[in-house]
Amino acid sequence: MTRLHSLSIIASNDLTLIEEIQEERDLIEARKDELENNKANLENMRDQVAANEARMDQAVLERKDLLAELQGEIDLNLKAIRDLEDESQRLDSLIQELIAEAQSQFSGIEGELLWPIEPPTWISSGYGWRRDPFSGAQAWHGGVDIAPHHGAANYIIAAAEGKVIYSGWNGGYGNCIMIDHGGGTVTLYGHMSSLLVQKGEVVSRGQRIARAGTTGYSTGVHLHFEVREFSKPAVRNYPSGNKDYRHNPMYYF
Ligand SMILES: [Zn+2]
Repeated sequence: MTRLHSLSIIASNDLTLIEEIQEERDLIEARKDELENNKANLENMRDQVAANEARMDQAVLERKDLLAELQGEIDLNLKAIRDLEDESQRLDSLIQELIAEAQSQFSGIEGELLWPIEPPTWISSGYGWRRDPFSGAQAWHGGVDIAPHHGAANYIIAAAEGKVIYSGWNGGYGNCIMIDHGGGTVTLYGHMSSLLVQKGEVVSRGQRIARAGTTGYSTGVHLHFEVREFSKPAVRNYPSGNKDYRHNPMYYF
């Protein structure tokens, strides 16, 4: 009995051992699955990181392209600004020479300037910074563009009495007239189709001096109108606090 009992105990122990081993194996199996799972996750993450890195590299390249493009645009704008400044300087010196040469008998503008083009008209571009219609770059606009309705060749009129100091082709201004009103004030009219007055002529306020056109640096029939002031201090009473707008023709109407 004792021996049998012993055997039975041994068998029972074996069974327990087998069960334990089975459990251990299951645990190992589960752990293995877990590790494999982790490995797959890690690989997945590694792929994602690699994909992100590739995306970022691509983004960096795109940003670099964009930056180069913007730099190019900035350079173009700076060049346009310098060109305009040069052009403005050139014109300033030319006008001062012409004023000196003209020996005008006028001593400045009394009252307000006339609207320089016969109606109906509308302002197609104001004075100041604007997007250049040709290059798309920011550019300074030193005058006011006034377009006749339906692109008609409306008459351009002298904004005040004065002496014509320029009448002819003037680069980007196309057919151009400048009138010296004395006191260092000059009005400039650009892009006209035909000119009705000549250099040296004296014109009265409101006199027809040209027909509207689209000559020179122009995309459609309009008058480019500028007022230039050379005398300091200013010859007239400007509206208070608008020193920065000394050349803005809009302040004269
Ligand atoms: Zn203009």
